[in-house]
Amino acid sequence: MEPLAALKKYFGYTQFRHSQEAIINHVLDKRDVMVLMPTGGGKSICYQLPAVLLNGLTVVISPLIALMKDQVDSLNLSGIPAAFLNSSQSPEEQRDIALQLQNNQLRLLYIAPERLFGAESRLMTFLKTLNVVQIAIDEAHCISQWGHDFRPEYLMLAGLKTEFPDVPVIALTATADKLTQKDILDKLNLNHPAVFVSSFNRENITYRVIPKKNSLQQLTNFLNERREESGIIYCLSRKSTEELADDLKRAGFAAEAYHAGLTHEVKAKNQEAFLRDDVRIMVATIAFGMGINKSNVRYVVHADLPKNIEGYYQETGRAGRDGLASDALLLYSPGDAVKLKRFAMVDDNPQQSAIMLKKLDDMVNYCQLHACRRQYLLNYFDEQFPDNCGSCDYCLSEFEKFDGTLIAQKALSAVVRLKERFGVNYIIDFLRGSKAEKIREEHKQLKTFGAGADISKADWQRYMRELIAQGYLRVTDDEYVSLKLTPKSELVLKGTEKVELISSQTIEERNAATLEF
Ligand code: ADP
Ligand code: ZN
Repeated sequence: MEPLAALKKYFGYTQFRHSQEAIINHVLDKRDVMVLMPTGGGKSICYQLPAVLLNGLTVVISPLIALMKDQVDSLNLSGIPAAFLNSSQSPEEQRDIALQLQNNQLRLLYIAPERLFGAESRLMTFLKTLNVVQIAIDEAHCISQWGHDFRPEYLMLAGLKTEFPDVPVIALTATADKLTQKDILDKLNLNHPAVFVSSFNRENITYRVIPKKNSLQQLTNFLNERREESGIIYCLSRKSTEELADDLKRAGFAAEAYHAGLTHEVKAKNQEAFLRDDVRIMVATIAFGMGINKSNVRYVVHADLPKNIEGYYQETGRAGRDGLASDALLLYSPGDAVKLKRFAMVDDNPQQSAIMLKKLDDMVNYCQLHACRRQYLLNYFDEQFPDNCGSCDYCLSEFEKFDGTLIAQKALSAVVRLKERFGVNYIIDFLRGSKAEKIREEHKQLKTFGAGADISKADWQRYMRELIAQGYLRVTDDEYVSLKLTPKSELVLKGTEKVELISSQTIEERNAATLEF
């Protein structure tokens, strides 16, 4: 059967999405593949369809035992014989599945990585006696320490290619940052893999960030407009998920909490209620959501600052899998950043600590951005995108812009005069002609010293952030944190490029407005 015919027959879809077809053809050609597709993009079909077409067994490695049952149930409903093996099953059940495997009655077998290796490697020995024709590694970023969801048991998968040298491996993830990508490829030992990267743009999601002030009030205002809709609210700590769920219940919302510290039963019950729309709001830690295929999640709120863009983007991606308009709202408070910074630094691995801090920095920059949020997010994943998406808070608000060329020139010449060796705060103090002790005597003699005294410190901070966001300045931290020029800034200094800045008044107005939300 042709792939397209099988897509229709088993899944009821009339055409492939993204690069599904090319990916499937690679697997059918027995080549290793890595698939990067946003959440909701349609990764499962990339290995489920070959599983139907190939004559043999596809082994699917998946991190979450709780989700295997859903996947298997839905495959069986589509007429595809599949099963899972995990510790929740009785010995009889497991024996029954082993028998089906021996009789070549199953097309897909879902297992957790730890079942394959280590003490329980009997399963590996058994699998090697079967006709394994494909190995799929779901949530492949779990193998990377640089990713946001590292699972040590995934490291064992490095041995897969040795055990099954001739079986094509397809690794799938919705995490796209370059470092994690490279790490996945290195650790899995894939053989000349073809890498398929889909656009990560989720055009039906609107991104908003508002300053966190009175979060309960802000949330209830937001939720009041969405009483009939389902959504997820992410909090940083287990305790705050429970507190917020209680607060929301008291305010009359159908909310429940979800975090890794709850018992199996409570988690299953709350998840089930959410999937059935009995509970509208899931207040959760990031333990909730991976692999949960609820298509009508209309909003994802981050009540606390996420640790990095990868996690944030994946979490917001759980909204709007059905393609309908959905919201991603983040309540930002600089205090959260300070807290997370402390978490990142307690790590006894300095290299990892540095990476985590850098990622946190990128997250904070996103929150403080005065530019298109979608563009920032997609650029983060190395994807080009025009600077006006029309559906993020920045692009939606009618900002009043003014010709800020002179302001930009002052800032840029200050950076030049100070030999690109100073950070934002020093440069601002220098521009404002500050009497502060920290300004060096020799700098006070420079012509630019005090050239921006007519602008308040707060405004300067905004303008500098905007100049960075627009690419006229970049922040480096090789020796110390300092601002440097970019190719774009040369044009401004020469006077051949105009710079548009947002008037600070509009920002004040916007902040005031979002507080009422
Ligand atoms: P992911 O694992 O990438 O998050 P899924 O594989 O769960 O995404 O797919 C998301 C949704 O899109 C599912 O409901 C799936 O059935 C649907 N889907 C996948 N491929 C197609 C397609 N070619 N046409 C229409 N819908 C599709
Ligand atoms: Zn935008």
